[in-house]
Amino acid sequence: MNFLITGGAGFIGSHLSESLLALGHKVCILDDFSTGRMENIDHLRNNPDFQLVVGSILNQYLLDKLIERSDFIFHLAAAVGVELIVKKPMESLTTNIKGSEMVLEMAHRYHRKVLITSTSEIYGKNTNGPLKEGDDRILGSPLKSRWSYSTAKAVDEMLAYVYWKEYGLPAIIVRLFNTVGPRQTGAYGMVVPRFVEQALKNKPITIYGNGKQSRCFLHVKDAVSALVKLSKEPKSTGDVFNIGSQEEITIEQLAREIIKITGSKSKLIYIPYEKAYEEGFEDMQRRVPDIGKIKKLVGFKPTYKLSEIIKDIIAYLKKN
Ligand code: UDP
Repeated sequence: MNFLITGGAGFIGSHLSESLLALGHKVCILDDFSTGRMENIDHLRNNPDFQLVVGSILNQYLLDKLIERSDFIFHLAAAVGVELIVKKPMESLTTNIKGSEMVLEMAHRYHRKVLITSTSEIYGKNTNGPLKEGDDRILGSPLKSRWSYSTAKAVDEMLAYVYWKEYGLPAIIVRLFNTVGPRQTGAYGMVVPRFVEQALKNKPITIYGNGKQSRCFLHVKDAVSALVKLSKEPKSTGDVFNIGSQEEITIEQLAREIIKITGSKSKLIYIPYEKAYEEGFEDMQRRVPDIGKIKKLVGFKPTYKLSEIIKDIIAYLKKN
């Protein structure tokens, strides 16, 4: 099949490209390199089944041509990372709302199957756990960047859903919970590559807030395997699925675990949220997915333990 991956030079997109090529498919990626990196895909560029197109999803003409010649679109291009969104709210909104709208419009024009990647930010401050796909969203003011991101992604979900319901567009929605692994950069705030880098350099580990907030981290390879499984399953269209790990850990415990595994001399430092992000910043205290739905439909189950994921990231960062 011919796959188009928007944002294919990013952290998840590059792993997805590798996986689809290994399955014998043709992969075209569209990336504007705003956060994507050439080194993520350099090793794929000699593959005759791989094509790189440098450009924006907001380029209507380009997007039209690329979608016309694809069988399936993985829409991953987005402004992600809480720090990036807080720093560049306008760019984030435009890419995340207009970009997805255009991808869906073109997919509808040529009736192509499309998978839209959304986020666990959808659930906002709902600390119940494990969070099911139909659970309530609890959000603060849309004037706070974090909640505007959650709202932008919710608009993407609604658009995809309505395109399916009203026009029969075969669209799948996935909500990615914290996904980590080799090639993820700490530059946009993601906690695991940040902490590992700090630990390897024996620098202070920067814990935001009191470190009691918890997350579950999924290996990118498990996330990719879930995406591929859903793309192949006809019953996944017109529906939404959580993708994530259920191994819950507080950020403070995560820091200690990384120090232990790296043998680092780093000390923990605690930074108030308003200093780390912006005045009035609100964090999620807990975020655990219910993955029963995707498990039932395609048999998805995370295979990497957190300690193995951390080791993979250490190996990658040491090599690079
Ligand atoms: N975090 C932290 N130190 C950092 C970066 C992040 O303590 O240097 C915290 C962040 O405030 C959040 C958690 O780690 O509570 C996960 O952050 P990340 O940006 O990786 O993902 P999020 O779950 O916020 O989308």
